[in-house]
Amino acid sequence: MYSMPLYRPPSEARSLIIQVTEGCSHNRCRFCYMYKCKQFRMKSDRELKEHIEWLKPHYSHAERIFLADGNVLCLKTEKILEMLDYIKKEFPNAKRISSYSGPLDILRKSEEELKSVREAGIELLYMGVESGSDRVLSLMDKGVNQSQMIEAGQKAIRAGFKLSCMIISGLGGKEMMHEHALESAKVISAINPHYFSLLRLVVEEESELAEDIRKGSFQMLSPMEVLEENILMLENMELEDCIFRANHVSNHVNQAGTLNRDKDVLVTRLKVLRDSGNFIPMEYDTL
Ligand code: SF4
Repeated sequence: MYSMPLYRPPSEARSLIIQVTEGCSHNRCRFCYMYKCKQFRMKSDRELKEHIEWLKPHYSHAERIFLADGNVLCLKTEKILEMLDYIKKEFPNAKRISSYSGPLDILRKSEEELKSVREAGIELLYMGVESGSDRVLSLMDKGVNQSQMIEAGQKAIRAGFKLSCMIISGLGGKEMMHEHALESAKVISAINPHYFSLLRLVVEEESELAEDIRKGSFQMLSPMEVLEENILMLENMELEDCIFRANHVSNHVNQAGTLNRDKDVLVTRLKVLRDSGNFIPMEYDTL
């Protein structure tokens, strides 16, 4: 059984999801509704064993495993190592294990601890950067500032992880649109992750940001402004061999490429779309 709701990155659609924790230990980001209904907790050894016994008959040959929920890396290192050992024994064909990770989880661990987790089997971490702007990170209560975010990303890569970073288009609202674009480009460039995903802000009723919008203290970007923001962000990124995707259900425009190699093509396409007068965004707004 899974404790619902259950989330995973789009690229883990074919992975077996093992839910070793429930919720997110931070659970304060104003835009985030994912785990508002859950109190963070770790499964007991007995619960994890039962969970795996339930999964095994159907997924015994799983080659990719995603560890849910929000941030498994916040667990004590010994616990993670013990758990990975158990999971690898139960799923011996697993070639890739991945999980979400908060920047604070990475910063709290020493490089030696991170390396031991990497060597024990977690290969890929998904880190929600959300924004590179100090003001946006603070407004959204992300729990870290720009320099901590850069340090967390660089530390994960130094420890040997593959790193996937996410930025949310529109998270600065109208007021901080340019700052959000430029500072996010700066942070992603400084980290130079293996993968970079651009999502678009979608506000659900359960989030605190919904209240900010109702009060008028936060104004969502129009689709055209999101397009402008994306252009500015991409134009200012300096990356090496970074696989870029903007193909989440939230995105108005699907984009894919490798940065910086495809930067000019991607930016040109967005500009052509902007100037065409034919930009009809795919909509997924709830507010
Ligand atoms: S965005 Fe990530 S860190 Fe923030 S509350 Fe949601 S799951 Fe937790």
